[in-house]
Amino acid sequence: MRPPICDLCGARFDPDAATVRFADYEPLPDGLVGHPRGLAWFCGRHLDAAQRLSDLPEAEALKRMREESHTPPPAAEPPRG
Ligand SMILES: [Zn+2]
Repeated sequence: MRPPICDLCGARFDPDAATVRFADYEPLPDGLVGHPRGLAWFCGRHLDAAQRLSDLPEAEALKRMREESHTPPPAAEPPRG
């Protein structure tokens, strides 16, 4: 599991941050530690939009949210996995 850093804008440890499961969500196998595919953190500002797009795969939803909100990717992407 990654720390609560918004996947859209990079906001860190927002008190309203929560995870959203996208269409390509795959739970981790038992005993495996890491961050599940298709699960992303969003800050309170972007959570609603992410939930509305949760029927899309994560990458597609993020792409649409960036286009709609004109939010550039965070300067330093958190490590994946
Ligand atoms: Zn955000």
